[in-house]
Amino acid sequence: MTDSWWELGEVSGFDGNRLDVWRLECVFCGEKGNFGLAQHFDKKKANSSKSLNFDLYQCRNCMGFLHVLWSANEFGSGIYDFRVLPWPTGKPAPSENWPPEVQRFWVQAKDSLKNENWDAAAMMSRSALQAAMRHKSATGSNLKAEIEDLATTGVLHPLMKDWSTEVRELANDSAHPKPNAPPTEPQDARDIMKFLDFLLLYLYDLPKDISNYRQRRRPTQALTP
Ligand SMILES: [Zn+2]
Repeated sequence: MTDSWWELGEVSGFDGNRLDVWRLECVFCGEKGNFGLAQHFDKKKANSSKSLNFDLYQCRNCMGFLHVLWSANEFGSGIYDFRVLPWPTGKPAPSENWPPEVQRFWVQAKDSLKNENWDAAAMMSRSALQAAMRHKSATGSNLKAEIEDLATTGVLHPLMKDWSTEVRELANDSAHPKPNAPPTEPQDARDIMKFLDFLLLYLYDLPKDISNYRQRRRPTQALTP
């Protein structure tokens, strides 16, 4: 979160002008989008159309409650953002800006890391990277070469290329474990996961934030002759 709760929904978020209930997932029973609104309050910003909505939703499956704070963009640019209490524990949630197969491998990489399955974590991280490289039409005979290719064409920041030479697991290009291969070191598994997180942020989330920003600018610019 940024400096003020009034900033919620102003810079980044989801498409739309109001909370999509289908996005809510019950943290108690895992049911998605099956909620009834139990209570609603809002607080309006002075001299502005901006309001913060305080919604209490009840899960129709287990009768548990979620407190959702959400707000739509003040300038009507079609984005909103929300926070939920209590937040989900356990399964990490991927960004929906990523391609589906990237999301799938990323979840498995995170799970493996949490459960200290280092080989699996490294392998799933490589698979997620590979899927992202394919999605961005990178060329090269291996993962490292593809990352270099994207840096050369300006799709990736040169720093990512410099960083990629430091990540030991990127040099390991096997999709399957080799017999007699040494086990993956915990730090190497964490390193490639961190590299993956930054790469996805740069390739997918940052451009989405910038496009949201442009949408936010456009309505106000249209008013000035
Ligand atoms: Zn529930």
